[in-house]
Amino acid sequence: MLEDNYKHKGMRRRLVDELMDLGISQPEVIKALLTVPRHIFFETAFLKQAYQNKAFPIGENQTISQPFTVAYQSEMLAVKEGDKILEIGTGSGYQAAILASMGAQVYTIERHKKLHLKAKQALSYLRYNNVHCLFGDGFKGAPAFAPYDKIIVTAAAPYVPDDLIDQLRIGGIMVIPVDEEGKNRQQMLRITKESADKLTYERGYLFSFVPMLKGKKDLK
Ligand code: SAH
Repeated sequence: MLEDNYKHKGMRRRLVDELMDLGISQPEVIKALLTVPRHIFFETAFLKQAYQNKAFPIGENQTISQPFTVAYQSEMLAVKEGDKILEIGTGSGYQAAILASMGAQVYTIERHKKLHLKAKQALSYLRYNNVHCLFGDGFKGAPAFAPYDKIIVTAAAPYVPDDLIDQLRIGGIMVIPVDEEGKNRQQMLRITKESADKLTYERGYLFSFVPMLKGKKDLK
């Protein structure tokens, strides 16, 4: 499983063709999807599932986001080489790997110690030295490395956290799925910080993420 061969590349090509049929078109995102071996973020027995356009359990009641969601959020972020990006919700580490593969410096926060350690291991195995895995509560962001050019939230946010807005540089972009009141789904928002006190909002599709929760969970 720890290898990446022509068979895996073929599976990625078919997955990417599917995502392109669904409207994914940015060449940088497509290249990253073709490059990052998604199966490395899965247990060995689940090779087939690694290349289906579906979310999948990664333990601790969490899931690796559906490939379409990863591609869609990556496009909305308009990633440029050298961007400093903060991700909330490391999960498997796959989304962080996609951003790193596009040339970003990625700081990613996970509140589950077990998942944090597992993702860190996969990312270092794949030699993504430009991903920094942090264990903590993403509601607070990571002020030590702020400001960020971009912020991506990959869990269902009950609201847009002020701390994250504060840590976004002026001109920066945040992509965040925010709960629709009373519904079990989230509205994807792209927020641009036009100035210190002016934000603009653009709406994307509706999605269904696992919840963004307060506090952290250490090993038992
Ligand atoms: N980006 C991930 C998707 C993970 S699902 C991937 O590519 O696999 C969302 C993750 O967010 C879960 O692992 C969950 O534990 C984490 N999470 C939820 N609330 C959080 C918070 N406040 N801070 C950090 N991580 C959080």
